[in-house]
Amino acid sequence: KKWTGADIRQSFIDFFISKGHTFVPSSSLVPGGDQTLLFTNAGMVQFKDVFLGTDHRPYTRAANSQKCMRVAGKHNDLDDVGRDDSHHTFFEMLGNWSFGDYYKAEAIAWAWELLTEVWGLDKARLWTTCFKDDKGDIPTDEEAASAWRKQPGINPDQVLYYGRKDNFWEMADTGPCGPCSEIHIDLGPDACDKKGVAGHVCRVNGDCARYLEIWNLVFIQYNRINATTLEPLPSMHVDTGMGFERIVRIMQGVNSNYRTDLMLPLMKVVQEITGHSDAERDENFTPYRVIADHARAASFLIADGVVPGNTGRNYVCRMIIRRGARFGGKIGLTKPFLAQVAEQVIAIYGEHYPELVRNRTAILDSLTREEVRFQRTVESGLSVLQGYFDELRASGQRVLDGARAFELYATHGLPLEITRDIAREQDLDVDEPGFRQAMEDHKIASGAGKAFGAMGGDDVDIYRAVFEDLTAKGKLGKEGVAYDPY
Ligand code: ATP
Ligand code: MG
Ligand code: MG
Ligand code: MG
Repeated sequence: KKWTGADIRQSFIDFFISKGHTFVPSSSLVPGGDQTLLFTNAGMVQFKDVFLGTDHRPYTRAANSQKCMRVAGKHNDLDDVGRDDSHHTFFEMLGNWSFGDYYKAEAIAWAWELLTEVWGLDKARLWTTCFKDDKGDIPTDEEAASAWRKQPGINPDQVLYYGRKDNFWEMADTGPCGPCSEIHIDLGPDACDKKGVAGHVCRVNGDCARYLEIWNLVFIQYNRINATTLEPLPSMHVDTGMGFERIVRIMQGVNSNYRTDLMLPLMKVVQEITGHSDAERDENFTPYRVIADHARAASFLIADGVVPGNTGRNYVCRMIIRRGARFGGKIGLTKPFLAQVAEQVIAIYGEHYPELVRNRTAILDSLTREEVRFQRTVESGLSVLQGYFDELRASGQRVLDGARAFELYATHGLPLEITRDIAREQDLDVDEPGFRQAMEDHKIASGAGKAFGAMGGDDVDIYRAVFEDLTAKGKLGKEGVAYDPY
């Protein structure tokens, strides 16, 4: 059987429905009511309060495919996107849940059954990991390990143990938590991207691309009271998350998430515009991957009401569109093109995510307007930036002053992320703490109240504060050309 992405998503859902689960539609990328989180970044976000016991659902078993964004805060995968074949900014997470219902034995048996029987994956390629007590405080998860070893055809030597860093899940400093078990697939020695690196050994949870993590099964059994105290929860839960694009890639037998029927058609649209052959596309695979990823992410964001803007979530939407446009420039795309890619996103995803179809006009218009803004204003910033880099190199330095990066941001709308991309491409760097300091200085100089201080993990909160300040002072009206209304 030839599996399409849509078939695979549906077969996951159908499998868990056959095990008594209720299908729960994806929640928005904008987390409902949770101000601490910029974007929904895992399937469990919409169920968080169920685990905390403050929300009750009419079911105890749920399954879904959740829209996720990992582009800020604790989970920021932006640096990997375009450079590897397994991380996206926007992706779908397939999940099954037990709210005080089944536990490890069932979760593990069903995962194995789905992967090896329904989907027919080669058992010899699957590796699993379990939690091991490496700090002398939380017991090793022998229950999970022995459940894995019982699965038909599993190689017991491929059931591994890892410590707190890899196999223990915590939502926050306090609250529900527990050990997890992950499933990784061996893509074979050719998939290693560290071949020839002295001392490199391919291994699960290692630093090369040979073993691909596909599924995380979290067993929520403790409540963390403080840094040293855990108490057992009155009921135990299961929370799983599988990378949809990753499993589609495995099932379709291709070597990149970007070569699946979910993402390759997006690249084909770009190829039609550039006229590149497949070989030329593959020589420019980083720009192609970034464009496909960012066009898809921006389409889903806009469909959830997050349009390009200067603050918070809207800033992220603006940043990824501008970044996509700049990568387009690298392959000769000088006119707005993202709307054409977005049309294909809607064609591929519209059936499962009808919000894309409903918001089609908003998506296409927002993308094109933002690209036009980018061309009118940001591109001048790029040449100023290049001047700075040339100066740096001439004086034998390699780190761009943070204040200069901030100035480019404030006057040309050049996101720090793009400045950093360009620096890295030229083997240079940006002083990011200096950038933040410049923002803080600006904030203090403008008398707008308390300094930034502890900003948590979300860089965008800094942007938000600065922009509110600049906007309030009228600095981004006429002078801040990057921010004139279209
Ligand atoms: P990785 O180690 O590959 O970064 P993770 O351990 O951060 O993944 P989890 O938080 O365990 O990921 O999320 C569950 C699953 O979601 C992962 O096993 C993976 O298949 C998928 N996933 C995580 N991040 C991404 C991403 N940026 N793009 C695509 N899929 C992802
Ligand atoms: Mg990760
Ligand atoms: Mg991982
Ligand atoms: Mg993981």
